[in-house]
Amino acid sequence: MDVEDIRADLTEVLITEEEIHAKLAELARRVEADYAETTPLLVGVLKGAVMVMADFARELQIHIDMDWMAVSSYGAGTESSGVVRILKDLDTDIAGRDVLIVEDIIDSGLTLSWLLQNLQSRGAKSVKILALLRKPESIKVEVDVEYVGFDIPPAFVVGYGLDFAERYRNLRAVGVLAPHVYE
Ligand code: 5GP
Repeated sequence: MDVEDIRADLTEVLITEEEIHAKLAELARRVEADYAETTPLLVGVLKGAVMVMADFARELQIHIDMDWMAVSSYGAGTESSGVVRILKDLDTDIAGRDVLIVEDIIDSGLTLSWLLQNLQSRGAKSVKILALLRKPESIKVEVDVEYVGFDIPPAFVVGYGLDFAERYRNLRAVGVLAPHVYE
């Protein structure tokens, strides 16, 4: 299967590679200013945030530390349950640290609201969130996201780290998955 065939699995490209990079640069300037007096610990949420972290971290012109967590927010279904399990924990002690969670997408908000509380309870000095995508119409719990890339409609999207059954993470753009793929 080549790239053309993969594109045929999308009904539309929502955000192009160029738009993503321009937005990450814009957010990086804000983060540089906000964290000028400290070295933030960027916490990426595996696996979806790998691309955002890779590009965003390289855009930053300040010192950062980087760590990763893997959480599972879904049981068997495709709807977030709010029951979150830690599959891989941080390697870093975050007590006293300024933590910036780097996420691909905030959908119901359940995962991030849980993660925020979890990291705050470890004694971090501050915990803020950067999310490339947000679906305002899907939000179930209010989560204060300091840095948002794009607000998108409540469709299932793939690409730029986001998968369907582990596929499509390597697409450079974010697109809406065509129904024929999952029906
Ligand atoms: P939440 O707890 O906010 O409902 O879900 C967050 C997680 O659900 C994200 O980190 C992501 O893994 C997954 N997710 C939510 N919406 C989408 C989507 O449109 N596409 C993909 N591929 N994953 C999604």
